[in-house]
Amino acid sequence: MNLTILGATGSIGKSTLDVVARHPDRYRVAALAAHSSSDALLELCRAHRPHTAVLAGVAPSARLCAAFREFGTELLFGAEALEHVALDSRCEVVMAAIVGAAGLASTLAAARAGKRVLLANKEALVMAGPLLTHAAHQAGATLLPVDSEHNAVFQCLSNASAVRRIILTASGGPFRAAPLEALDAVTPAQACAHPNWVMGPKISVDSATMMNKGLEVIEARWLFDLPPATIEVVIHPQSIVHSLVEYIDGSLIAQLSNPDMRVPIAHALGYPERIASGARPLDLTAMKALSFERPDERRFPCLRLAYSALERGGTAPAVLNAANEVAVDAFLAGRLPFTSIARVISETLEAVPGAPAADLSAVMAADEQGRRIAAACVLARAA
Ligand code: NAD
Ligand code: MG
Repeated sequence: MNLTILGATGSIGKSTLDVVARHPDRYRVAALAAHSSSDALLELCRAHRPHTAVLAGVAPSARLCAAFREFGTELLFGAEALEHVALDSRCEVVMAAIVGAAGLASTLAAARAGKRVLLANKEALVMAGPLLTHAAHQAGATLLPVDSEHNAVFQCLSNASAVRRIILTASGGPFRAAPLEALDAVTPAQACAHPNWVMGPKISVDSATMMNKGLEVIEARWLFDLPPATIEVVIHPQSIVHSLVEYIDGSLIAQLSNPDMRVPIAHALGYPERIASGARPLDLTAMKALSFERPDERRFPCLRLAYSALERGGTAPAVLNAANEVAVDAFLAGRLPFTSIARVISETLEAVPGAPAADLSAVMAADEQGRRIAAACVLARAA
């Protein structure tokens, strides 16, 4: 199979290439795309020899083109090139692993082109769930979840019509047990030091605020076509049970593994077969006790904000996502206290009027409006 990886230099991109390198007989790397880390992308091209590479955030350069050409790789520049490689008939499988709204257009392009889309870029589904799932359906594309919780639910689903509820597990992040009054002063480094997973900075902060789980509730709503009231969240600090499905007969089916993204990545890559992932097997007798607790709304206000944006519908989830991206960027840059992330999102949601998410341009307009208002909220709080 020919595989294109969007977001190849990131945490998911690198884990995907690790799994792929274990199965040279099954996969050939067709194209690799990144934002601006040209040295890292060049190294990946040296190892995997794709026919095309993309630097979405870099101006065209003859010197860079020549460097990539050494490995037989044609280098393209700019955001449109992401859609170009997502559509290219020389790949059948696209790993959508760009972080944030920047991944929406290329993920949608891959779905419209009927590809098998391995979906890590949850923000695309949050912003445009109905559009993306409809496009995939129309084009005969398959959307396979890579997010560990959704991949777990997918693995546990045998009879969708008999599901009572699904339970998404959340680790609770680095501040699960910190005193509430200490949260105002936490630093980006502390927020990114996740107890169980090593991930990119944006999703690490999302895990600390639990907006990550909020985004995942919205992601699950569209992936599995379930009413929001049947999607629950529990905190499970050990990150061993990746999610559960409860059936109407009372059976609860769970998927367990060590916390290693190569497990869901290998599942999505190999599906419906099973392939080796390189992850360390779970040693049941050496395992700590597994515990579960209800999320505290005061500690994690972002979770409720996500449920309410899902309930409002239309472009509200796209506005939620945009405000979150702006607030997280500002927090990472030292311009916004951690506890103000939720406030900026809440103020932005209140300020933007509801609108239907009829097409991609309506979603992108809401994204832009959300970003503008959130940036003003950040400025007002910094003053
Ligand atoms: P990361 O920050 O490590 O990597 C992001 C990748 O996207 C990089 O290759 C970067 O070059 C590229 N990128 C960023 N902005 C871009 C732009 N404007 N145009 C083109 N490319 C751009 O992020 P990550 O942790 O790998 O996460 C990627 C996605 O997968 C996110 O949507 C995240 O929510 C999801 N996800 C990640 C994990 C994980 O364990 N890391 C788990 C579940 C889901
Ligand atoms: Mg997840």
